[in-house]
Amino acid sequence: MPKEGKSLYSAKLLINDIPVTVKSKRIKNMYLRVRAPSGDVEVSAPKQCSLNEIESWLFERHDWLIKQRERIAMQPVQPELQFVSGEEHKFWGKVYTLDIALKKRGASVSLNDNKLQLVSLPHYDAVQRKQVLDRWYRDQITREVEALLGIWQPRMGVYSSGFGIRAMKTRWGTCNIGSKKIWLNLELVKKPVECLEYVVVHELTHLFERYHNARFYALMDEFLPDWRERKKLTNQFI
Ligand SMILES: [Zn+2]
Repeated sequence: MPKEGKSLYSAKLLINDIPVTVKSKRIKNMYLRVRAPSGDVEVSAPKQCSLNEIESWLFERHDWLIKQRERIAMQPVQPELQFVSGEEHKFWGKVYTLDIALKKRGASVSLNDNKLQLVSLPHYDAVQRKQVLDRWYRDQITREVEALLGIWQPRMGVYSSGFGIRAMKTRWGTCNIGSKKIWLNLELVKKPVECLEYVVVHELTHLFERYHNARFYALMDEFLPDWRERKKLTNQFI
């Protein structure tokens, strides 16, 4: 990390819709950072660099920037959730207030208007309450994926051998071309359902084309013409 030199001026740039703050400093090299959890991009540049030079330097690192922002979007924004009443939790892109009820048996979760009601056993700590909620999330996303595959597999004329849900740190989904099995990130249950649909179609498209090449994107355009907006939504910090 460079020493935090005093900023001589600062400017804003847009690199393919990604807002970037440029800070001109008395330094030798350009430095780039993506801040968590906001995904804000900041570049520190030597004072003799023009905005044009900075812009083309950023465009060369565009793919890296996208990857970093995707990685940050996947990290839970509030790692310190306590699983207590009043806390906000997400489900299909909406924010719900957690409402904890204590009962001797029958831990469960249900939705009630804007409330996510979690029945916890009296001795459960945050970790155990999280397990109850994750189990429910897993059931919900499983049901949704089954429905989506029911629509998309016949529509695309391609069939997976099955799917699994798991917590993944760096990807929304993967597809094992050999076994034709699809894996989806449990975190998708917190995003709007259009995001899950986008990832399902993306992974199914891999059954036609292994690589992210022109043929792959042409197929995506055909199946899901608004996939780019959905991808953006998936990686948004909401
Ligand atoms: Zn892919």
